[in-house]
Amino acid sequence: MLTLERVHAGYGATTILHEVSLAVGTGEVVTIIGANGAGKTTTLRTIAGLVRPTAGSITFEGQDVTGLTGHQMVDRGVTLIPEGRQLFPEMTVRENLLMGAYRRAARERQGETLDEVLALFPRVRERLDQNAGSLSGGEQQMVAIARGMMARPKLLMFDEPSLGLAPIVVAQVFEVVDRIVKTGATVLIVEQNVFHTLKVADRGYVLENGEIVLTDAAAALLDNDHVRRAYLGI
Ligand code: ATP
Repeated sequence: MLTLERVHAGYGATTILHEVSLAVGTGEVVTIIGANGAGKTTTLRTIAGLVRPTAGSITFEGQDVTGLTGHQMVDRGVTLIPEGRQLFPEMTVRENLLMGAYRRAARERQGETLDEVLALFPRVRERLDQNAGSLSGGEQQMVAIARGMMARPKLLMFDEPSLGLAPIVVAQVFEVVDRIVKTGATVLIVEQNVFHTLKVADRGYVLENGEIVLTDAAAALLDNDHVRRAYLGI
């Protein structure tokens, strides 16, 4: 579904990603592992059209999408659930969710999509008329994920969905990610909780200083000495 070939990208004169090549197949769950500052967020933002590659190419569903804008990528079916949730605090949960369905194909089916999405998030349904800013951090993260799904994405990207949440809430976020994965969704996920994520993922890439240094099946990465020492603390 998605292929990056030798992508370079960064901010201004600073190159963060160097020759990043990766692929995500339809129905696959793929994770990118790396230390703080390795370039994981930059990789997701580049795929989402928010950072422009300076070299290399990005293909989505067989078409060259290199250099398309964020809106164009949403139109193609790529949705990023950003780190830090970024809800509209003064708007209700329902209004926030409907903001996720702004692309035309999604807007036409928003009622039906809302029902499908709320079936995955019963606690969000109970809070539809509450202001998003009044929710707990965990509830806000659920709304952010639900909003991403309102776009009916073909590729769903998560950036650190459990960041800043208490352990019990982290478990709830992973339950939701697990439920989404079971619907057959195609997922690319960056997550500090490497152990949990490798349990959910099919494959993973290890990103260090903006370069992919290792890729393997998730189960093999769980057994890999370097991964265990550097990212699992074993
Ligand atoms: P973290 O887990 O800390 O979020 P990350 O692997 O996601 O790390 P990125 O957020 O992609 O890393 O950051 C990679 C590098 O790019 C860092 O050195 C960061 O300071 C730099 N960077 C990120 N965003 C910008 C920006 N908007 N302008 C300039 N530099 C940036």
